[in-house]
Amino acid sequence: MAKRDYYEVLGVAKNASADEIKRAYRRMAMKYHPDKNPGDKKAESRFKECAEAYEVLSDTEKRQRYDQFGHEGLRGAGMHDFSRMNVEDIFSMFGFEDFFSGILGGHRKSSRRAGSTRGYDLETTVELTLNDIAKGAEKTIEFTRQDICGECKGNGCAKGSKPGRCPTCGGSGRVARGGGLFQMVSTCRQCSGSGQAITNPCKKCKATGRMPKKRIVNIKIPPGVHEGQGIRVASEGEPGKGGGPRGDLYCYVRIKRHEFLQRDGNDLITVVPISFTQAALGTTVDVPSLNGTQGLKIPPGTQYGSVFRIKGQGLPDIRTRRTGDQLVQITIETPVKLNTKQEELLREFAKSKHKSVSPQSKHFFEKLKKHFGNH
Ligand SMILES: [Zn+2]
Ligand SMILES: [Zn+2]
Repeated sequence: MAKRDYYEVLGVAKNASADEIKRAYRRMAMKYHPDKNPGDKKAESRFKECAEAYEVLSDTEKRQRYDQFGHEGLRGAGMHDFSRMNVEDIFSMFGFEDFFSGILGGHRKSSRRAGSTRGYDLETTVELTLNDIAKGAEKTIEFTRQDICGECKGNGCAKGSKPGRCPTCGGSGRVARGGGLFQMVSTCRQCSGSGQAITNPCKKCKATGRMPKKRIVNIKIPPGVHEGQGIRVASEGEPGKGGGPRGDLYCYVRIKRHEFLQRDGNDLITVVPISFTQAALGTTVDVPSLNGTQGLKIPPGTQYGSVFRIKGQGLPDIRTRRTGDQLVQITIETPVKLNTKQEELLREFAKSKHKSVSPQSKHFFEKLKKHFGNH
């Protein structure tokens, strides 16, 4: 599916300020929030689209890459795969939860648990040539991910300090609202129920416990992969919360265009132009393949569009490993800029040809006569 322009998604101008972008995201996220559009899958995907746009436009580096290179520029930038995330997690991700819960009535069930949670999955792209696909490949992928802050080891506290008791809940992790007989008890929003809060924040990560880090991994690509296929690299996503396991990295395959070969399933298609004399008299032509060129015999009387099959010269099937074929399609070029001598020869040829028309055109003209003759 084609991705929409991120500025368009949020409805802001290209030169919008960080504040304008933030406000636009709030507005859109509220409009499409699934709580407001129950059961509406379209609203949910719009919500996720907005989150993706906001992830990019609210990050100076990602925004710069996007402005310069478009969606392509975000390859390996460590984007979240929002389609795999649940709405609640996306919600809390940008720290707008307090704002939203007030607006949406505060009745939302909180998914924030005091325990550990698995880290988010990330996605990136790997570009492959047809030769990579034929043989399988090992690729080095470089991407940026939110990783554990090296300064505070992820707890968000300045060196030498520890989290203190949460001032909102007094360390219980729960807060009571209302009074009298009916008190509503809910998880403390400030500490997510842990009862602890950072009193002396780490300066490097501003108490988030996370810092963007470059990461390089080698991945093995099996032969026969297809465009858009995702290769899962286990535990290379973001670190989990509260000691939870890391998410995974999904590497999506993009296939580089080959100058001469086109993929059709496991077959490869090549179009080879020959001259009309070669077609009439027969010839041997050089056909480009994955491993250099090779000669292919073209029999006399070859017609435009004829297809020759070279067995076993395609791509391997990802499951069965059976190799496809290479299909060579012939096109015939009509000569241009004839010299006098050539023209004479052709006129001579046409005269001799007048009485013995080729079988296909004979068939065609008979059909034509019949068609218009009946009307
Ligand atoms: Zn830190
Ligand atoms: Zn608390």
